Amino acid sequence: MRVSRYAPSPTGPLHLGNLRTALLAWLQARLYGAKFIMRIEDLDIPRVKAGSAKQIIDDLCWLGLDWDEGPITITARDPYCQSNRTTYYQRALDYLYSRGLVYPCFCSRNDIRQAASAPHGPMPVYPGTCRRRYENMSPHNESEIEGRKPAWRFIVNNETVSFKDMLMGEVRQNLACDVGDFVLRRSDGLFAYQLAVVVDDAAMAVTDVLRGEDLLDSTCRQIALFKALGAPAPRFWHVGLMNDKNGKRMSKRDGSDSVGALRLAGIGAQQIVGELAFSCGLVNENRPYTPADLLSFLTQRSFKSLLGGS
Ligand code: GLU
Repeated sequence: MRVSRYAPSPTGPLHLGNLRTALLAWLQARLYGAKFIMRIEDLDIPRVKAGSAKQIIDDLCWLGLDWDEGPITITARDPYCQSNRTTYYQRALDYLYSRGLVYPCFCSRNDIRQAASAPHGPMPVYPGTCRRRYENMSPHNESEIEGRKPAWRFIVNNETVSFKDMLMGEVRQNLACDVGDFVLRRSDGLFAYQLAVVVDDAAMAVTDVLRGEDLLDSTCRQIALFKALGAPAPRFWHVGLMNDKNGKRMSKRDGSDSVGALRLAGIGAQQIVGELAFSCGLVNENRPYTPADLLSFLTQRSFKSLLGGS
């Protein structure tokens, strides 16, 4: 049985780019006869916006998408909301700890920059400062140092991780050179996206992940985690992101192309679906379609090749 999912973060209203990814994930699932799961990734509590999950669900339903598992109305204990799944993430961290694959780290961002002599620009590769430093500390008996709890990092091997993306082809990355040991639980106690997404995709037996290419860069880290947890990695389909009218990448922050704003302006769901399908080359003509219309003439092969896969 194939299983696909869409996993929005409720950090603001969906924009057209998010909607296009959701439409493509739905089409992929339906074309391949997969179970389609909706999962709300609301773990990063400081970034979650009240009411945003409900808005996302409403917007996706309005567009004509449906799912086989996941919330239809958001309830406080919904099992498809990551905020209710932290026991699974803790269990995975404990398992990795029992295998000697994680360690506590007290470095601040500043410490890491200083160690790498890189005060500005993107965060440097973590140099492994805290590896083997606090050997007797477990995720359940953490000490505080200068009032701070540790983050927990995953130990990466100095080897190349590779996979064949369904749309982008061969991808390779040496995690030790490009990323370094990465964080699974932050020092504020919140679990990191990288761990939660892998634990959930494994628990939900996801076989196909279609998502935006901004996450391509996380995929080798996730594959290393699947391996460490003894779970098979899914197939990945990374799709291009949509730009706004000015050629800039869309962001949830500016809100201008939010689905809500378009709905208020009287633009219909079918018009939006047509425009999204046209913008990524699934149809030749920019005219209204329902998601079901698109399904009626796409095939597995045309879907993949129109999106750039070979
Ligand atoms: N929650 C992530 C986002 O909204 C997507 C995660 C994923 O698909 O792996 O960007």
